[in-house]
Amino acid sequence: MSTRRADVAIVGGGLTGCAAAYYLARRGRSVVVLERGFVGAQSSGVNFGNLRLQGRYLPQLPLALRAQAMWEGLEAELGDSVEFVQAGHVHVALNAAQAQEIERHAVDCRPYGLEVEILDRRETIRRWPFLGAGVLAASWSPRDAVVNSRLVCPAFARAAIALGAAIVEEIEVTAIEHASGRFTLRTDRDLVVEAGCLINAAGAWAAPLARRFGEEAPVFPAGPVQMVTEPVPAFVAPVIHAVDGSILFRQTARGNVLVAGHPRVTVDAEGRRSRVPPAKMAVNMARLAAVAPHMRAHHIIRAWTGIEGYLPDMLPALGPSGTTPGLFHAFAFSGHGLQIGPAVGAVLAELIVDGGTPTPIAPFSIGRFREPVAADRDRLRHEFYDDVLDRRPSA
Ligand SMILES: Cc1cc2nc3c(=O)[nH]c(=O)nc-3n(C[C@H](O)[C@H](O)[C@H](O)COP(=O)(O)OP(=O)(O)OC[C@H]3O[C@@H](n4cnc5c(N)ncnc54)[C@H](O)[C@@H]3O)c2cc1C
Repeated sequence: MSTRRADVAIVGGGLTGCAAAYYLARRGRSVVVLERGFVGAQSSGVNFGNLRLQGRYLPQLPLALRAQAMWEGLEAELGDSVEFVQAGHVHVALNAAQAQEIERHAVDCRPYGLEVEILDRRETIRRWPFLGAGVLAASWSPRDAVVNSRLVCPAFARAAIALGAAIVEEIEVTAIEHASGRFTLRTDRDLVVEAGCLINAAGAWAAPLARRFGEEAPVFPAGPVQMVTEPVPAFVAPVIHAVDGSILFRQTARGNVLVAGHPRVTVDAEGRRSRVPPAKMAVNMARLAAVAPHMRAHHIIRAWTGIEGYLPDMLPALGPSGTTPGLFHAFAFSGHGLQIGPAVGAVLAELIVDGGTPTPIAPFSIGRFREPVAADRDRLRHEFYDDVLDRRPSA
């Protein structure tokens, strides 16, 4: 049995774990990341690639804007391509309530420094003439961007390794002891890791680790369905996204159109399997055809989903443990973890190295689950199929 000592041990080699490893290594800390499978093979490597600012929960905007500034320089910083394209994001309103919602949001996000332009139907159609008759208005957020998520984690991992971090794949953390201010991580291989700090970045699988330290988080897994069409002639640069998330799409440089939309489907988190019900593909295609009628004639060539962890208020658990000094939680990003990922990594490094962060993260404290969460089924119903909600743990 070999023992490895480090300043920080990280459970989970998704974007959260790899970005934290990179920013900690940049601050001179020794880091070991333990990943059960392969870096970025879960949510972090199969997602839509949307770096969306508009439509976010307002108190998350400081974190999101910090992240966007990091994304804008990330390829230069990491010395790697992540296929970053800053072509903006269009929220399309399909009814009067949604049109009001985008107008309100454009006002509300201005104090945070996010500028969003409201467009009436005429201007929306002038800019994106392929849009269907159901589009009433839109909001335009030019700083929003996309990346190829498959490339992001490996790029962070390579950069972290170059700075001295150790990233061990195909190793599962099976038990954690905590004594005399140090964490001892047992694994399913002949490696034990000892560290003064521990980051819980285990995605949809993070709740048992938190519970081990007396903290409850009612994480539930689900899969956002993604599909991609055959390549079609270029017709759209930004992401087009219905305000209620029922349909969104973007076109890649190769011409394929990536399509997604709520509700999210049931996944087998324990077995680490996720599948797309064929009926859901038909639902997404019908919605795509309503918003972009010319897409009706095109073929879907592939569909997939992934295993993402959600919390009932659709916000992550991010910040120091309330029970255990040296333990930090960063999990259940509830559909938004790619965009904020670099800033989450930097914040975790600040919490560990500086003892605090200038970025407000109080709303994401795991301590909010000390009280039972309010009934929320109606609010979540358009985002998840009923069977996902039926299987949730009670808080
Ligand atoms: C299909 C899909 C589309 C999405 N689209 C977007 C989008 O467009 N924009 C956006 O911002 N977000 C999006 N998201 C959300 C985003 O991908 C996630 O929030 C983010 O990737 C979470 O990163 P993570 O590192 O916290 O988790 P993960 O990537 O899930 O990584 C957690 C890792 O922990 C490992 N692990 C767990 N337990 C252990 C253990 N005991 N020992 C060792 N390793 C362990 C797992 O193997 C896993 O690799 C999407 C998610 C999905 C699934």
